[in-house]
Formats: sequence, C-alpha cells, structure tokens
Amino acid sequence: MIPKVDVLLRDENIRRLIQTYGREAAVETLQEILARVREEAGRLTEEKSMEAGAEKIRRSTAQIAKEAGARLQVLFGPGIIPVVNGTGTILHTGLGRAPLGEKAAGRGCVAAQTYASLEYDLKTGERGERCFRTERLLCRLTGAEAAFAVNNNAAAVLLILSALAKGGEAVVSRGELVEIGGKFRIPDVMELSGAKLRETGTTNRTRLSDYEAAVNEETKVLLKVHTSNYRIVGFTESVSLEELCGLGRRKGICVVQDLGSGVLVDLSKYGLLSEPVVSKSISAGADIVCFSGDKLLGGPQAGIIVGRKCFLDRIKRHPLSRALRIDKFTAAALEQVLTEYLNPGQAVKNIPVLRMLTRPADAVKEDAEALAEKIRYKADQKNGIPAQITIEACTSRAGGGALPQEEIESFAVCIRPEGISAAELQRRLRELPYPVLGRICRDRFLLDMRTVDAKDADYLAELFSDKEQFSSGSRAAGRKTAGEEKSCRKKENRL
Ligand SMILES: *Cc1c(COP(=O)(O)O)cnc(C)c1O
Repeated sequence: MIPKVDVLLRDENIRRLIQTYGREAAVETLQEILARVREEAGRLTEEKSMEAGAEKIRRSTAQIAKEAGARLQVLFGPGIIPVVNGTGTILHTGLGRAPLGEKAAGRGCVAAQTYASLEYDLKTGERGERCFRTERLLCRLTGAEAAFAVNNNAAAVLLILSALAKGGEAVVSRGELVEIGGKFRIPDVMELSGAKLRETGTTNRTRLSDYEAAVNEETKVLLKVHTSNYRIVGFTESVSLEELCGLGRRKGICVVQDLGSGVLVDLSKYGLLSEPVVSKSISAGADIVCFSGDKLLGGPQAGIIVGRKCFLDRIKRHPLSRALRIDKFTAAALEQVLTEYLNPGQAVKNIPVLRMLTRPADAVKEDAEALAEKIRYKADQKNGIPAQITIEACTSRAGGGALPQEEIESFAVCIRPEGISAAELQRRLRELPYPVLGRICRDRFLLDMRTVDAKDADYLAELFSDKEQFSSGSRAAGRKTAGEEKSCRKKENRL
C-alpha cells in the first residue's frame, strides 16, 4: 500500500524536488514520511484493525510527492517573504523596519546585479573612496564637514567610541543608558569599544555640574544618547546638547551624540511631535552625530556618522570601519534616499516611511471605507461570509524606538468572524503564502490601513470575501520537524 523509495525516485514530481532541494534533503524527507506511514500501519496491525485502517495507510506516489514538497518548502523554501503589514507599526523591526521606495530599491538592485562604480574613480581610473557621493549628500543635508556610513547604528556607536575613546572614558548620563530591544543594551555595545563608560547624574536628573564633576584626565568623549524609545517624565532635568557642547569646548573634549532615529526634515511641520533633526545637532556644536538609516530616515539598514572632518578621518581609518562597512546594494539605495531629501516636499511623498507617517487620518479612513465596502460587495456576490466587517478609529505607531509617545490617529478595517475566533483567523492569515498581519482587539481582527499598501486592496478584498477563511473546519498547518541539534559543547566550553 506504500510505494517503494526507488519507485518514488523515478516520479517526475519527486525528480523536480531533487533538482530544487538536492538529493540528500529530498531522500531524507521521503524516508521520514515513509517511516511515519509504516509506524502508523504497525500500530493498526497491533490493534488488529488493519482491515478497517487500510485506507488510512494507502498512499499514492502523487500523494507522497505532494507531502514531501510541502515539507521541503517549509524546511528550505524562502523564509523571507513579503507580508501585508496591518499592524499599524510603521517601523516594525520584525518586519524589516523601513520598506524602500521603488527608486531606492531599484538602484540597490541594479548595483547588486551588475558591476558598479562603488570604489572606483571613473575620472582617474583609479581606486576611489567608497560612497563619496553619499558623503557629499550627507554634508549638504546636515551641515556637517564629513560623513561615513556603516552597517547599522549600533556599529556606528561601536566604531566611534573605538576610534575616539578606546582606553579612555566616555561620560554619559544615567538617564540615557538605553536598551534598544532584542535584549541589546547600548552601554554593552559601548564598552565593547574598549572605552570605559563613566556614568553621571541620576536616572531622572542630570545637571551640567554632574558632567563637569565626571570629567578627568581620562575623559575622551562626552556622550549624549537620544532616549529614543522612552521618556522620563515628572521631576526631571537634563543637559541640552548646546550646554554639553559648551562644556566640550571649554575642556577640549569631543562631544558625540547618538540620535537613534535621526531625521533630516522637521516632522513638527506635519503635526508630529518632533524627533531631533540632525542638522540642529550639528549647528548646536556636536562634533559627531550618528543615527540609523532604516528608522525615520526611511532608507536601507545602515548607521550614519556625520561631523567634523578631523574626527571622521580617524573613524574612517580605524580597522573596524573595514569590518563594518556597507555593501553596494545598501550604498546605492542610501544614495538614492538621500537624493530625495534634497527636496523635502518630494521626500515626504517618495519615501514610504515618511509618506505613511504624514498621511492625514482622513485619507486613511477613505482607504478603510473603500476596502470594507469592497469586501462586503464581493462577499454579497458570493452569497455572504460568516463575519462582520466594519471600520473603526485606531492609533498607529512610528515604532523602531521613534516617537514613542506619539499616538498617530488612524483607521482600521475590523473583521469579527462568527464561526471561529479572531485569534484563529489571525493564525490562518499568518500562514498564507502572502501573509496578512494585524492586531486583535475585543475578539476582532484589526487591519490598520495606515501601513497597508494600496496595491494590496484587491488581494485583501478577495481574501476576506472568501468563506474558506472563516470556516470552522480545522486546517492543519505544516509544522517544522525539529532539526537535530548537534552538540559542540566541548568546543564551546573552551570559550
Ligand atoms: C535604534 C537605536 C540604536 C541602534 O540602531 P540600529 O540601527 O538598530 O543598530 C542605537 N542607539 C539608539 C539611541 C537607538 O534608538
């Protein structure tokens, strides 16, 4: 009742699986499936119910090929796939933070697919400096003398302190020791540089006199960290960047600011509480400022360092700058995103993060109404669905540790399924080939339309007008078999 392995291996569909996933993985998967079927057959024999169970056991070659295909897909098929973001969190770290606009992604792809003038001076025909155009753009946009880009902002902090404060001390306020999520703490990254963090002040209050008292012979850097993902409110006091730069000038100490999510345009113009603008930090006198490329800037993952040329030269020369450098995809995409900022009005339209962030609530409401209407219309054509579709006001978030207190007015399409729970609907939507992610609120599934791309409206309307999505029959999901964990404890113990 079960086909043999050599029969299976001659099957056309299975041969295709071997081509895609390799012989070893495909054969192993087939053997696992067959072992499970035989085990079940054995059990039925013991229970003397073989006759009755025979139909449970019988497998055609086609069935086994299908099962193997599904399993191999789960194990080795694409793991990073596009999803519909209905969570309302614009910079969702789990979803890759900033989605790039078409132009920026296009330029990144072209650079990735071809040879590109990444480090080649086309005028002289000699090796040139990587990202000189990016540097020129950053200088224009921030007013800094020099700039450099690395892998991400954590890398930027590590590199800055390695180049400027190794073996010495960096003074930082106790109110600014940030954990950025995923259990990563900025102080740990800083100490990796070989600089000693000299904490000063208290959690809620730090005065200029605290910084002054902390400065000694060993002080190499005065560090200010933007407390991007939290605010200390109430009985608080902190030192402004201007004051700290004054102290830096008097004592001859370099002032570094980690802005986290640095922005290049003033967002308060668009009714959003302002996040600090990079050019303001430069004009306030900071020697070095660093920020993320894929937070509010809306670009590819990168850490951007701007500031005075003498310090940037040291940073660029440091061996870690080679270890942390960006690749040609990122370099080309970043160049394009920065080009958009030359015209801020254009940037707000062309950079998806800024477009979503500044979109008026009324426009989002129109999208929500249109989608809800489309779902109801399609559902009616198909004799209805067991769910209620409404729209409702909700709040979106910037995410990525930016604008933590900002509740951005938005609208959601709410789906209240009748046959199944909202949590079950949420699970099903996550397991689709093109997954749809949203929030649960009072047993309804909410799709915040601020972060949903207009091009997905038809897909969503088709999906939510389909009875299948709401049927109460259980749909087994493909589960990963736990891969065998190889122990390398002996080697690890030596570390
Ligand atoms: C997010 C953040 C970082 C880390 O930036 P990545 O680009 O994620 O490496 C560092 N410092 C602050 C203050 C941040 O908010």
